[in-house]
Amino acid sequence: MNIIVCIKQVPDTEHLHEVTINPESNTLNRTGIPSIINPFDSNAVEEALRIKEKLGGKVTVMTMGPPQAENALRETLAMGADEAILLSDIKLAGSDTWATSVALTRAIEVIGDYDLILFGKQAIDGDTAQVGPEVSELLAIPLITYARKIEILDGKIKVERVLEEGYEVLEAKLPCAVTVTKEINEPRFASMRGILKARKQEILHWNLEKLKVKEEEVGLKGSPTQVIRIFSPPPRPKGEMIEGENTEEKVAKLLEKLKSHRII
Ligand SMILES: Cc1cc2nc3c(=O)[nH]c(=O)nc-3n(C[C@H](O)[C@H](O)[C@H](O)COP(=O)(O)OP(=O)(O)OC[C@H]3O[C@@H](n4cnc5c(N)ncnc54)[C@H](O)[C@@H]3O)c2cc1C
Repeated sequence: MNIIVCIKQVPDTEHLHEVTINPESNTLNRTGIPSIINPFDSNAVEEALRIKEKLGGKVTVMTMGPPQAENALRETLAMGADEAILLSDIKLAGSDTWATSVALTRAIEVIGDYDLILFGKQAIDGDTAQVGPEVSELLAIPLITYARKIEILDGKIKVERVLEEGYEVLEAKLPCAVTVTKEINEPRFASMRGILKARKQEILHWNLEKLKVKEEEVGLKGSPTQVIRIFSPPPRPKGEMIEGENTEEKVAKLLEKLKSHRII
């Protein structure tokens, strides 16, 4: 099983509030903010490693991002991934989800020999959940989203897919693309041996030439999404504290207030 995992480096959840908006370019300014692997993507890497450990094969991890995204890739090598590819070219900057998916798809075509492509269900910063579906469409392979369990059968994949109330079981032919949820597994910590090994491993850097992508297909030029305006909502007005001697009195006052505003 040759598995490709697409990962994104995102601002650390504890620092998400520090992300600011560039009012001129309408893009997010993440400079200087600590980054982590998008949490769902860690689950995707873990799942790929578990499948490889069972069935053999190779796990290739890929990200499109700035040079510092190497750190995220190195973390996955330390977990046990075999190969890491960084799509980094200044001409990719400003790519929307479509242009991102075009670049990732071309890279997957350059890799060529794959059975399964794994994604997180969504990125915790962009939050569109579009990249997995777009890549599968561009590659014309089946897609299963929101996986909580994956089983590889003979030439097929069986997936439990999370629904609002329960789950459904789907089967698809390989090669197939799957986006995964947190329920699927608990990502492993890298071992000390893994960390030391990963330090020495080469991370492949691919540019537009390697991807055989034209400049106008990616970056801002290749992005059909136009961000008209992006803004932080105004802070909520301060709430009112209900004072009282004890809980009963506070609850009584609260009920009175809600009634007077015809809320209840
Ligand atoms: C007009 C426009 C300009 C933008 N400019 C910038 C910019 O300058 N800089 C910037 O950082 N972002 C920019 N973005 C946001 C960027 O396009 C999105 O973050 C990116 O396309 C992925 O979308 P998402 O975060 O919603 O991911 P989702 O679709 O929610 O991600 C789903 C899954 O896809 C995979 N994935 C997502 N992104 C990547 C990636 N880059 N590499 C590998 N796998 C990935 C992961 O497995 C992830 O879990 C811009 C967006 C728009 C609309």
